[in-house]
Amino acid sequence: MDTERRLLEGLDPEQRAAVEAPRGPVCVLAGAGTGKTRTITHRIAYLVHRGLVVPGQVLAVTFTARAAGEMRTRLRALGVPAAQARTFHAAALKQLRYFWPRVVGDDQWQLLDGKLRLVAQAANRVGAPTSSESLRDLASEIEWAKASLVGPEDYPAAAARTRREMPGPAEQVVAVYRTYEELKTRARMLDFDDLLLHTAAALEEHSEVALEFRDRYRCFVVDEYQDITPLQQRVLDAWLGGRDDLTVVGDANQTIYSFAGASPRPLLDFPRRFPEAAVVRLERDYRSTPQVVSLANQVIGAARDRPAGSRLRLIGQRPDGPVPRFAEFDDEPAEAAAVARRIRELLDGGVPASEIAVLFRVNAQSEVFEQALTEADIPYLVRGGERFFARPEVRQAMVTLRMASGSPQRGELPDAVRQVLGGLGLTEEPPAGGSAREKWESLLALVELAEELAATVPDADLARFVVELDVRAEAQHPPTVEGVTLASLHAAKGLEWDAVFLIGLVEGTLPIQHADGDDAAIEEERRLLYVGVTRAREHLWLSWALSRAAGGARYRRRSRFVYGLVPDDHPAARLAKSRQEGPPSSRGRAKPMCRICGDPLVGTFDVKLGRCGDCPADLDEDLLVRLRVWRSERARELKVPAYVVFTDA
Ligand code: ATP
Ligand code: MG
Repeated sequence: MDTERRLLEGLDPEQRAAVEAPRGPVCVLAGAGTGKTRTITHRIAYLVHRGLVVPGQVLAVTFTARAAGEMRTRLRALGVPAAQARTFHAAALKQLRYFWPRVVGDDQWQLLDGKLRLVAQAANRVGAPTSSESLRDLASEIEWAKASLVGPEDYPAAAARTRREMPGPAEQVVAVYRTYEELKTRARMLDFDDLLLHTAAALEEHSEVALEFRDRYRCFVVDEYQDITPLQQRVLDAWLGGRDDLTVVGDANQTIYSFAGASPRPLLDFPRRFPEAAVVRLERDYRSTPQVVSLANQVIGAARDRPAGSRLRLIGQRPDGPVPRFAEFDDEPAEAAAVARRIRELLDGGVPASEIAVLFRVNAQSEVFEQALTEADIPYLVRGGERFFARPEVRQAMVTLRMASGSPQRGELPDAVRQVLGGLGLTEEPPAGGSAREKWESLLALVELAEELAATVPDADLARFVVELDVRAEAQHPPTVEGVTLASLHAAKGLEWDAVFLIGLVEGTLPIQHADGDDAAIEEERRLLYVGVTRAREHLWLSWALSRAAGGARYRRRSRFVYGLVPDDHPAARLAKSRQEGPPSSRGRAKPMCRICGDPLVGTFDVKLGRCGDCPADLDEDLLVRLRVWRSERARELKVPAYVVFTDA
């Protein structure tokens, strides 16, 4: 009874309604930070504690390994460690391992780690372009097709229907796609999408497999349901097999994988598909300060064509916090140095490194920030681009450990691991930051994992440790390494930090270059910014640099999304105007613009003056002088270059 009260306390009435809803279809449609993930973990724990479901019969799925890990942590804390929380792929892999002999036979198949090599062979064979860019485009197109349940023969029609920009003539894509599949089958390989395809097929075509599965798993939960692909939906339907014990939660405004075939439609249509479903909407934001929430509302409020059911406004619940900061820099090194300085201030102020994240649109952006953090002696880890178990040093360590596990072990388990890894560079601790440090931290994380294992399984030896590593690698469940997080916006979904830095907010990066001119793609980029803003609990920083390298030409423009956000009377807004920037829609051949308000100049008289008739000359000079004085004073005070502009000045 006490446990039950504990599970319901700390929930608001709407969250509680979703937690207490009887087994059956439940749908939570709500914005970021409103407690969706909290609601589903409490629901699972509540059903278990009431004796309404056995924990082993619960299967909770989500889309990223970190989000799945996060869910497992929360479930463990609520006393239901036996409920499974996995990514779709990890769940499929586990099931497939089990069913494989019955479905396929004794053949050994291997998991293909990345498609590029086989796509290259296929492209070569059919005479398609083989530059690394073309190959990457072809590989993601094949991924899209498979996730959308589109086979090679259906590709041209599907691509035309969805008006996709194809990476080459349709027949060529078809030829590469078909050849890729043939090469893969001949080599007895499965790619990640095949895991899902085979899982669905095993359940659809083998009734005894389906019966056994459905006896085992009876209660399904999907987090981040707005990002489900048709292929994943097919797996989910195969799991359900006509049953309806399914809880889904999501936020259509956070759909950020539609480029890969995901769609919020199943989420928005859920109440129609299950008319008896309990539908809950949440709008209280428990994560972020009202200042962050208000900015988030502004970002998503500007979105076009928001489907019904996604027009929820967030209402901040937390006490007031600092105003989000906007900062403009001449170049990226200056931006990175300022971010490092601000992080140092936060660390000195008591914010732990693990509560700080620097988020970017593309992985290439992280390098200059890694360098700045290294110089500032701030530990960091890069997430998103890499997977822990795919890091070369971790792979090498696993091979070495496996070999060592064959010979007699020297020392208790953690010492044995320390000895083996000593040869790989564990013994010398490199200074904070930098790739040597990251490698060292990975090795250290393995030792810590060995310590953890030794504490729970006292007689565990190296061989047992190697098994533990294999299991974790398969589930993509990496150990934690302390430090400031550097991650892509995509990888940050569902997570939260006290302080978040959104960097590189320039046209061509966010929104990404290839989204330009494509309204749907631009809207997805806007949602990415919304995801970024809503990761922050308290401190939020948004910055951009007008050129890449120090001293470079200032050819870049701040992101179009930043324009309505910086308040009009904010110095950054005036500065931009005095620099004759305009919103991106006025790009193209430079039109003369008023150097004060940024409006297009009409008539030769205006052009001669360099300002429009509405902006008086005296205001012009006065404003410019005031801005110059303000900037240099503020810069002296903050010991930063003069071009830094802060909102809370
Ligand atoms: P996202 O859309 O980003 O995935 P979410 O809706 O899943 O967000 P959660 O991560 O579950 O949100 O919750 C956000 C934060 O708010 C968490 O720190 C959570 O513990 C806290 N929280 C949620 N509900 C409540 C509540 N009723 N009272 C206090 N804190 C809450
Ligand atoms: Mg969540």
